[in-house]
Amino acid sequence: VIGDLAAISRHDLASAWRLLRGLPALLRHPLTVEEAGATLRAHLAQREARFLSLVQRTVYANPASPYRALFRAAGCEAGDLAALVQREGLDAALRRLYRAGVYLTVDELKGRVPAVRGSTAVEVTPAQLTNPLISTDLALHTGGTRGPETMVPISLDSIRESARNQCLFLHARGGLGWTHAVYGIPGWAASRVVLRHAAFGATPAHWFSQVDPSARGLHPRYRWSARIMGWGGRLAGVSLPWPRHVPPENPRRIVDWMAGVLRRGGTPHLRTFASAAVTICRTAGEAGVDLAGAQFTLGSEPCTPRRRAAVEAVGAHPVPSYATLEAGGPIGDGCLHPTEPDEVHLYADTHAVIQPVTSGGPGELPGRALLLTVLFPSSPFVLINASLGDQADVVDRPCGCAMERLGWTTRLHTIRSFEKLTAGGMTFLDGSIIRVLEDVLPARFGGGPNDYQLVEREDEHGASRLDLVVDPALGPLDEAAILRAFFEAIGPGAGVERVMTLDWQAAGLVHVRRRAPLATRSGKIFHLHSTRAQGAPE
Ligand SMILES: [Zn+2]
Repeated sequence: VIGDLAAISRHDLASAWRLLRGLPALLRHPLTVEEAGATLRAHLAQREARFLSLVQRTVYANPASPYRALFRAAGCEAGDLAALVQREGLDAALRRLYRAGVYLTVDELKGRVPAVRGSTAVEVTPAQLTNPLISTDLALHTGGTRGPETMVPISLDSIRESARNQCLFLHARGGLGWTHAVYGIPGWAASRVVLRHAAFGATPAHWFSQVDPSARGLHPRYRWSARIMGWGGRLAGVSLPWPRHVPPENPRRIVDWMAGVLRRGGTPHLRTFASAAVTICRTAGEAGVDLAGAQFTLGSEPCTPRRRAAVEAVGAHPVPSYATLEAGGPIGDGCLHPTEPDEVHLYADTHAVIQPVTSGGPGELPGRALLLTVLFPSSPFVLINASLGDQADVVDRPCGCAMERLGWTTRLHTIRSFEKLTAGGMTFLDGSIIRVLEDVLPARFGGGPNDYQLVEREDEHGASRLDLVVDPALGPLDEAAILRAFFEAIGPGAGVERVMTLDWQAAGLVHVRRRAPLATRSGKIFHLHSTRAQGAPE
């Protein structure tokens, strides 16, 4: 414990203290369906006004905001923006702003390239996009770009905000009385999911962890986040679950928990990664355990036809969820009458989405790219027409489900990344992987940055696999040594990368493949190339 304490930064301690102070208020008075519905209707009705107020406070009144320079370069002052939004509505106004240069690509957002619009060049850093209106109650750390890791500030207000739509989503599924559990990695990100459910009285009964919280080498932050949450819950008189290790390759304990709840006449509901659900259902099938009636909410990875079929094969019901940390959590949750395996209703009260429609327009984005605008004041980042590297089909035709009746009429499906890598439930934007592929491996085994690539694919069971692609032109190489060097290079980080290393090794996710790295249509080699993003084998 003393060693743990020494490794915890002042920043982590300050987060913990604010969390302890704020938790009782979040947990003591759980949100009701009636309150959630009333607020949703008000926010949908005030969508334009809420956007304008947010831009006024976070952009026009904030000299540090890169968006201020983009609006100026587009010749759009506060009065012009208000007139445009009132005249054309929010979505049409956002499309016009995109064409006028008010948007950010992933490369610009992460500070890899400046945002150049005409004669204006704006240097953007993720820190400048931090929402000036929020207090940081939790600091989430993500694998950073070539510099230090990115800190994502989370306020308890944003947890309350996302709890509202989660409450309505579960209610629409008839799920408020289910027995809930979470299966993920320990740390603040999973803590946030647990707290979000607790905020409307659906506190998870179990918190299963893919990584052993007591594993050596794991940053103490992951253990302490759970401890602090437990104390905060006790202060509020709410018993919050403690993470229990369930290895990703053998999730039998979760299968048994689900079967037990079903036997007692209840409905087990597990929130987890799509590939983890596939393994759980395959384990149940192989053991002859009936999971008919079990419910899954699947996030973090594409809910592909094959993954969906694997869950349905044991009689369980999968519903997809689309969320990102940067956009403040859930962007949309599953349609209840879906025609596509990963169809979700956009939470139009908290987010707006537009698309370039044709490729090669401003920012050279794919036509199906999602340009995301965040509409709620507790979002960690201010995002206006921001690309986080995802693309999808956007549809408006009626589906007739309960989510639509709540006022969420726009749906997204076939959501795929064209940029980031998501595997085994974890996301990398680039960061250490690029360093390893460009510097570490070439230095040791020869070749250059274009000779190594990490490619995500699905195996025949729908599980995530990563191929470490090495160009055969480099001649004979010891594949085990390459893999070891890859893990060693990613391992030293004490944060998320470390968790991923433990997880990947455990699950045997990564394999060396000797073939020429894949090129994209533009001819550029992507380090983190997703075969799915290209519409290839599914
Ligand atoms: Zn629907």
